[in-house]
Formats: sequence, structure tokens, C-alpha cells
Amino acid sequence: MLTIMKNLSRTRKARQLKVVFPNTGGDRCNKATSSGNKRGYVQTSKINVPWFTYQYSKPITTGSRTNDFGSHAGIDIGVSSGASVYAITSGSAKYRTAYEVIGTTRYAVSYGNFVELTFGSNKAIYAHLSSFAPYTAPSYPNTSPPRGASTNTLYIEHGTITVSSGTRLGATGNSGNSSGPHLHFEIKEGTTSVDPYKYVLFPKMPW
Ligand SMILES: [Zn+2]
Repeated sequence: MLTIMKNLSRTRKARQLKVVFPNTGGDRCNKATSSGNKRGYVQTSKINVPWFTYQYSKPITTGSRTNDFGSHAGIDIGVSSGASVYAITSGSAKYRTAYEVIGTTRYAVSYGNFVELTFGSNKAIYAHLSSFAPYTAPSYPNTSPPRGASTNTLYIEHGTITVSSGTRLGATGNSGNSSGPHLHFEIKEGTTSVDPYKYVLFPKMPW
């Protein structure tokens, strides 16, 4: 009898609650809980993002969205140079610069100054930066017109550090294949770029 009641109770719970939060606690669970839902649970249909979004923090806290995933491999956030960018989760941050040599001059191409944050088998990419923390980012001019990676693209590997969620990685800029200051933010699962909305809680455009 006790077993039957337990099973009934489980079935009822499963019907009422669509998605169960991992037991991470804290404010994020409460924020994600829209009205009418029980604390600790979320209806994905209302907020239009997968539940696991809330494990990750924002890569930037200012600016306005100019390009979504689909039109290209990431999302673009138009913002003046110098805005701080942050690690969305803990991991290993690799600081790199993509450049080409034309004549005797180095030009920034592709992602320009960028950070690759590896977490598990995924990567978050922060591109077109003007400065790094804690490394010194070069200020190479862009090619005209700006262009992406080619067979001539070379990379400076500045270094790799371990970071926590929210660690400041550097600041936005216009380096590389960029026609104005913005953050290009991209997430790769293995080698495949996916919609960053799966990981970061941005409102849908317009932001
Ligand atoms: Zn972009």
C-alpha cells in the first residue's frame, strides 16, 4: 500500500512539474521561477530558454544586440570599446591574437584579440577585444576591408589561466574582422557552433 501511494505521488509530481532544477540553490533558481510556478521549478515554454541556462552568467552587462546566431556563428553585441567581458563559468581561458603579415606590418584579422574559455568539452569565444586581463593585447591595425581567417593567418598564444565564473577577461574593441566596436560571443560544443542562448540568459532581440 505504501508503495502504491509513493508511486502515485511520483506520477502526480511528474505531471505537474515539467523541468526539475538541479539542486544548485541560490538566487538564480528564484529568478528563473516565473509567476505561477513552484519555487525551484521553471516552465521552459514561458521563458523560451532551456533550464540549464541558469548555470551560466552573462559575458557582458552592457550594449545592444546587433546580430543573432543564425546570421553567423555567434551573437554580436554592439558596445563602445572598453566594456568589460566576463567568464560565463569557471574554466580555462586561453588568450590569443589572429593576425597576418603584409609586407613587414602585422594586421589583425578574423577574431583579432580573443579569448577561448574552455569548460568541459565546450568553448566560449570572446572576439574583437581591445585589451586582455591579465595579458597585454597588441593593437595591430585591421586589414581594409576587415577579413576573416585565411591560410596566411597566424596566431599569438599569450597564455592560459584558470578562471571562475564572473572573472573579468578583458574589454571590448574592434580588432580583426570587425567594422565597429562590438563583442562577438560564440559557443562551440566540440567543434560545432551552437546558439549561445542555450547558455546565457539574454533577452531575445531586440535587447
Ligand atoms: Zn559576430
